[in-house]
Parts: sequence; structure tokens; C-alpha cells
Amino acid sequence: MTVQVALTIAGSDSGGGAGIQADLKTFQELGVFGTSALTAVTAQNTHGVHGVYPIQTDGVITQIRAVLDDFDVKACKTGMLFSADIITEVAALLKEYPPIPLVIDPVMIAKGGQSLLQQQAIQALKEHLLPLATIVTPNIPEAEVLTGMKIQTDEDIQQAATAFIKMGAKAVVMKGGHRSDVLDAKDYYADAEGQSFTVTAPWIQTKDTHGTGCTFAAALTSFLAKGCSLPDAVAEAKQFIQAAIENGLKIGSGHGPTNHWA
Ligand code: PLP
Repeated sequence: MTVQVALTIAGSDSGGGAGIQADLKTFQELGVFGTSALTAVTAQNTHGVHGVYPIQTDGVITQIRAVLDDFDVKACKTGMLFSADIITEVAALLKEYPPIPLVIDPVMIAKGGQSLLQQQAIQALKEHLLPLATIVTPNIPEAEVLTGMKIQTDEDIQQAATAFIKMGAKAVVMKGGHRSDVLDAKDYYADAEGQSFTVTAPWIQTKDTHGTGCTFAAALTSFLAKGCSLPDAVAEAKQFIQAAIENGLKIGSGHGPTNHWA
């Protein structure tokens, strides 16, 4: 049996709903073998982040090298990277290896408001990592920080997407889930070749959405690892996350995790 391998470079969520745990569960669910490099350990539950404990940068780099030197990794994803130092070193390392499709989820802030990316790391993300992106998957608050734009309308979303392409990303999917002015969850895809489209799904009213961003990006990574084109991978990942939000689990007393198996 042939199975494709994916790599996630991200933080651990002790509550199991986001981060590395969401990524590995999603890879498994989609039939991809998951490898991982931890950037930080978070003490976390459905109410929020209680502590962040970064891994030393050389520990992050050695994990990635151990995986890339052995496995034929077909797609890679970054999530919580936390510091400028980790971002700069990860970007330098990825450039040493033959290019692998790279999904960048520019994780910044947890739902509870705790920072998962240091302020000084934002510039490093823009300068060193975004130019390596096969696709970047910002939500609106993240896109506002990274582009410096105020994003409210469909037109703003299209302009922000163009700004990401100008920063060097080959493609972008602007996730519309944080918009309050539309009835649907609308995500906008654009790429450097000039292709663009919107994927839409009905808005689901639920508080159990912990890990949505991680799970979407991990699904996208899985579909790329299996050889899908970028537009197909985005459309498939959208369906996957829609089902995972519909099946969100009432686990813990705060924001339960999205779920695709139970
Ligand atoms: N914890 C980790 C390790 C994450 O990577 C993320 C998001 O990417 C979160 C928490 C935040 O998840 P949410 O905003 O869905 O609570």
C-alpha cells in the first residue's frame, strides 16, 4: 500500500483540538501519514491557553531535518511558529531542500485572545516565510495584520489577496469565517497565475469551532500531498472543514473542537 507523507511544523495543544493534534488527526482521517515538528508546547483546554513553552530553535530544526532526510514528504504545513528566530531558521532550512508544496497558516492569536506569535515575529513571517508559500490561509484578522489593510468588503478581500501574492505567496485563500456581514462562510481563492474563485458554505451557528483554522490547513495539506491541484485541494478542504464544524464535539465546557470522525 502506498501512503503519502505530510509534515506539520506547529505547536501542541494539550486540549487536543488545535495545533499538532488537529493536524495529525486530519492527516490520518484523510489517509495521509503525518509527521511533525513541534515549535512550542501550549497548556490549553476548551477555555483557552494557560501557558506557552517554546521549543529551542535548534530542536525545531533538528526535528524537521530528521523527517526531511528520511521521508519523501509530499506536502508541508506550518501553524504556530511563535518566534522570529524559529521562523527565520525554518525558512532557511526549507530553502536548503528541494521545494515541497508549503501551506502556511499564519497563526497569531487563539480564540481566547492569547498570543501564539510574538509581535516581533510578524515581520519575519512576511519577509522570510510568505515568499516560500504555495498557499497561505489567513483569516480576516490575520490578513489585516499582515497586509496593514482594513478588510470589510468583498473588494477589500480581493485586494488583500493581491497583497499576499505581491509578498511572494503563489496562492492565497482568504477565509471569510470571521465576517459578520454575510450569511454564508465565503472563502476567496486567488493565485499568481490570475485564477480566482469563491467557495461558499452555509454559516453554522456553534461555539464548538476550536481548531478550525488548523484543521482546514491540514486538510488542504493532505489533499496536496495526495496530488490534488491547488483549486481542487481548496474545494475539498472546504467541504472537510464544513463537515467538521457541523460535527463539532461538546467536549469540555468551553469551545469544543471541530471533529470529523465521531
Ligand atoms: N493552539 C495552537 C497550538 C494553535 O496552533 C492554534 C491555532 O492555530 C490555536 C491554539 C488556536 O485555535 P483556536 O483559535 O481555534 O482556538
